[in-house]
Amino acid sequence: MDNNKNMQFDIRTLLVAVTLATAFCAGARLLLWRMHPTIPGLGRWALAGGCAVISFVLILSYGILHWQPFLSLAQVSIVIGLLMSWDGFRRFIDKPALTTPVLLGITAAGLIWAAIAQAQHLAGAVVVGNAFLVATLSFLIARDLLLWPKGNTPVIRSTGGVFAINGIIFLIRAVVALDSPQTVDLLNPDGVAAAMLLWLLCSMIAITLGMVLMTTEHLQSVLNNQANHDPLTGALNRRSFGVLYEQAAVHSRRHQLPLSVLMIDLDNFKQVNDQLGHDFGDKVLCSFVAVAQKVLREDDVFCRFGGEEFVALLPSTSSETALVVADRLRSAFAIDSASLGAKVNHAPFAITASIGIAELEQDERFESFIRRADTALYRAKDNGRNRCEKAG
Ligand code: GH3
Ligand code: MG
Ligand code: MG
Repeated sequence: MDNNKNMQFDIRTLLVAVTLATAFCAGARLLLWRMHPTIPGLGRWALAGGCAVISFVLILSYGILHWQPFLSLAQVSIVIGLLMSWDGFRRFIDKPALTTPVLLGITAAGLIWAAIAQAQHLAGAVVVGNAFLVATLSFLIARDLLLWPKGNTPVIRSTGGVFAINGIIFLIRAVVALDSPQTVDLLNPDGVAAAMLLWLLCSMIAITLGMVLMTTEHLQSVLNNQANHDPLTGALNRRSFGVLYEQAAVHSRRHQLPLSVLMIDLDNFKQVNDQLGHDFGDKVLCSFVAVAQKVLREDDVFCRFGGEEFVALLPSTSSETALVVADRLRSAFAIDSASLGAKVNHAPFAITASIGIAELEQDERFESFIRRADTALYRAKDNGRNRCEKAG
């Protein structure tokens, strides 16, 4: 066979390239962490990047000085880096962080293993043990990312997939190294070093890219959340109500199901602010939202419409049933607000709500639907407040 026709890789050049790429990836992770220091896990990812750079610098140094401990330390540094990555991913996806005993335990095991193997001149044993550890940690990270039920996005799945492949590759490496350690020696040009270095290059870039994209996704979801929720009470805001109303109306028309709305306004709220202070008013608004979230169903859409006005959309609910729900909400709030112990001139001050109810009519427009509920609300105010009225 003509060897010149085969693709040739110079191991040392490849090693320098991987080291440089790893340094750039570590720099990117450091920047990511500096840009978003409050997002959990990013600091650990940056540390993991630093460990990877140390490992490759040690391997390069070993290539020049041939001092065996460089290699053992490089392998321990790879394990510590993976531990940091694992801890970072767990923090990022809201899983409990790894405890200090776990981190110290695995690090100590790696160091002791490397020290014993070093003393006994068992270079092969270090390679095998290290490959098994790397494979195990990669599978653990892959499991956490692939089986995370809450945010199983393509980015998280792909990053988990890279770790799963890494686990498989290192498992094969461990088995091969059991037989002939020199085959997997990263500096041996006759072995599988080139393929291994190329994989390390690709996986380092893919994982760092995964981290950047996961952070972008996280920021996007924080922004979406802020755009759809009222900052004071945490309830959905008027903007999201419009979108959710459209969906509910389409569903109701398609399935011939009733759809009702409650327009809610807290009574004499200007007086609450004037007599008891704006902060107390804010507390009342938050406690009203908490009561509404307890009383309403999960399918119901509850929003702060503005100021002390709220709106609830009740799917599959007729106006008769909505009246019952509204009255349950009104009385639950009256009881809850009494527990706040508001007093004016030493006398208890009742904080209540009035509610207007309307059921969507065939082909009715949004504006008319809301106006009818609003008119019913004003009737409730005119009739003495702390009551519910149904639109005619
Ligand atoms: P009515 O029973 O007729 O509804 O009387 P009201 O006093 O509740 O009605 P009005 O619309 O005159 O007053 C609403 C008050 O709600 C005025 C405003 O200061 C207060 N308010 C609006 N938004 C907030 C808020 O975010 N926090 C607090 N504390 N008060 C707010
Ligand atoms: Mg009002
Ligand atoms: Mg009011």
